[in-house]
Amino acid sequence: MKYADIIIDISHERLDKTFEYIVPTKLEDQVSEGMQVVIPFGKGDRAITGYVVGLHDKPGFDITKLKPIARVVKDSIAIESQLISLAAFLKRNYGSTMNQALKTVIPIKKKENEKLKKEISLAIPLEQAKIELTELLTKKNHAVGKERLLRELLEVDVLDWELATKKLQVPTANIRVLEKKGIVRIESVRAFRNPHINKSAQAKQITLNQQQEAAAEQIKADIDTGRSKTYLIHGVTGSGKTEVYMDVMEHVINMGKQVIVLIPEIALTYQTVMRFYTRFGDKVSILNSRMSPGERFDQFERAKAGEISIMVGPRSALFTPFANLGLIIIDEEHESSYKSEVVPRYHARETAVYRAKLSGATVILGSATPSLEAYSRATSGEYQLITLENRAKGQDMAKCEIIDLRQELQSGNRSMISRRLMELMADRLEKHQQIMLFLNRRGLMGFVSCRACGHVLKCPHCDVALHLHKDGTMKCHYCGYTTKAAKVCPSCGSKYIGSFRAGTQRLEEIVKQAFPQARVLRMDADTTKGKDGHEEILSAFAAHEADVLIGTQMIVKGHDFANVTLVGIIAADISLNESDYHSGERTFQLLTQAVGRAGRGDEPGVAVIQTYQPENYAVLTAAAQDYSEFYKQEFAYRKLLSYPPCSHILGIQVACDKQADAIAQADILAGIIRQTDPEIVIMGPEDAYLAKLKDVYRRVIYLKADDYDRLVAVKDTIDKFLLEQKQYRNTTTWFDFDPINTL
Ligand code: ADP
Ligand code: ZN
Ligand code: ZN
Repeated sequence: MKYADIIIDISHERLDKTFEYIVPTKLEDQVSEGMQVVIPFGKGDRAITGYVVGLHDKPGFDITKLKPIARVVKDSIAIESQLISLAAFLKRNYGSTMNQALKTVIPIKKKENEKLKKEISLAIPLEQAKIELTELLTKKNHAVGKERLLRELLEVDVLDWELATKKLQVPTANIRVLEKKGIVRIESVRAFRNPHINKSAQAKQITLNQQQEAAAEQIKADIDTGRSKTYLIHGVTGSGKTEVYMDVMEHVINMGKQVIVLIPEIALTYQTVMRFYTRFGDKVSILNSRMSPGERFDQFERAKAGEISIMVGPRSALFTPFANLGLIIIDEEHESSYKSEVVPRYHARETAVYRAKLSGATVILGSATPSLEAYSRATSGEYQLITLENRAKGQDMAKCEIIDLRQELQSGNRSMISRRLMELMADRLEKHQQIMLFLNRRGLMGFVSCRACGHVLKCPHCDVALHLHKDGTMKCHYCGYTTKAAKVCPSCGSKYIGSFRAGTQRLEEIVKQAFPQARVLRMDADTTKGKDGHEEILSAFAAHEADVLIGTQMIVKGHDFANVTLVGIIAADISLNESDYHSGERTFQLLTQAVGRAGRGDEPGVAVIQTYQPENYAVLTAAAQDYSEFYKQEFAYRKLLSYPPCSHILGIQVACDKQADAIAQADILAGIIRQTDPEIVIMGPEDAYLAKLKDVYRRVIYLKADDYDRLVAVKDTIDKFLLEQKQYRNTTTWFDFDPINTL
């Protein structure tokens, strides 16, 4: 007799429990881990569905109390046990219910969700269709829907069903009538296919240079001898990391294995995607966040069926159900989008390493600015470090100039653009070269600084910037420290003190004013709203339809514009003063990436970094493009203050629409933590960074510990408590391990 642990298909933290059922003999060879089954549940034996998450030979309960599984759900997706194990990993390490974890790993459960797209086309020759339309128009009170449909089909070959019924508002009945008369044809096509590949876009034949070759050979040699390791490729911007990935990918595919390539959503542009397509053709499939669940499902099905061998996509592509996974690549490994912002708040890096372990696959992480986490593991030998020191075609890195904005103010320039940057811009415009101006979106967050001396007001307890609140106070978002907003700079006495606000729109105005003849493009959340907004702006800039591209961090990622010879970073400090211990790292990354956009072609590049803190280590090391120096200083800082990767942080958030209950519940949890682990470092409970969101109040507790498992133990204790707690059931609690953003 076999027994199954079954999880009920309801996502609620208090239902986080498995139930044991008997596997009837007749179902024994049908039931496997991950299968969806129907079971009798509760007093009335209500038929409900659940997942099999475990199978064993010995019952865990009194056998007379166990009920049998009723049946297996036909067409249910068999979740590979590997993926279930991955879900268990997410649940354990990041905090969630098994159900939430399963849903992360298996986003779509039922086949019905698979959408067939319908298309309408003419079933008769065009000329005849014109006659049909004319006839229709002669009739009084003819159906407008029919008219619209025919008119449209005279213009286009095929019409999307959704488009016809929604946008053109053609009633379904009208379409059906025309179909019956044999005028139009309705065909079902699979919802998502690869983009049409332009056959002329043949892959450029690229021969790896010496450093690329050495990197690829080292990894391939390990793969051939059956050693699956994790590599960190630290390669300067433009060093040709992608070519190294593709070389190893080809090797792995030739072994009959599959590859997952994670790239940040923001870099999922036509340019990048086409590089994979032109090299690997139909073997490649792409996931992106704009896809409907059905389209996503379709791609996962193709992966399972062995129709494709490469999945390129953001974080969630990690769960592609490849049966024989050989390689996972995480490009731009340092990107914060690899950490999930919803429960379970997993990090793709750690999860990839775990998934690779399960299937004996290799992991390659790549970055010009590796995260402290990855680099510290590489230096400790946990990951293999591979360095690409030079640009692929031997171009020099851009020359950097640091402009002290305090001096600009002193000499009377209150503009966002320094005199030196103006001068260089004029020169580049004259030479018909292109310019990128970069402004951090996070600039809209209001940290308080002095425009005369650059002094930033910081929390005395946390060494992070204080934020100005509307009520006239300044607050630390880490520990809750609050003080009255300063009127004069405590460092130099100047009145020019306040929160720094500057937007891309304002910058655009300034540039247009100063250079009326320049063609300016702006790329930010406002201008990229449309589906292909990104693409349009980037291609226009690539085609030199504009001289200046102004943008947020969107423009610094992975684009290769050969004609850009000047990059201006308008205010480097903005990210430096986020109230978050990552701010130095983020600043260094952004500056390095931005500087890396300049001088990719034949002409050398210059980058101008404008800052109030020219002496800051992140600014200085980025300007010198000296990652190891940055790492040394940043690591020392993390060590000193026990921040990751030198230690671990667990954020616990309690939310409730009743403020008093949120406060009370957070206090109760804090008490439990103190009982469970009296020595652990607790910060809070405090109001969360967004203390109230959509009328829900949020309290947060932070814990610090060197040992990750110690935090996991606290999480488990709290989980158990919540399961049994009778009071405050109107509150919601969630966990965030090593949070990337302030909760
Ligand atoms: P990274 O990902 O490290 O920024 P890429 O792989 O995007 O670098 O390469 C930067 C540019 O250099 C691309 O245009 C690429 O086609 C080109 N490139 C890379 N390797 C070579 C090579 N060995 N020979 C010629 N061009 C190369
Ligand atoms: Zn000052
Ligand atoms: Zn503080």
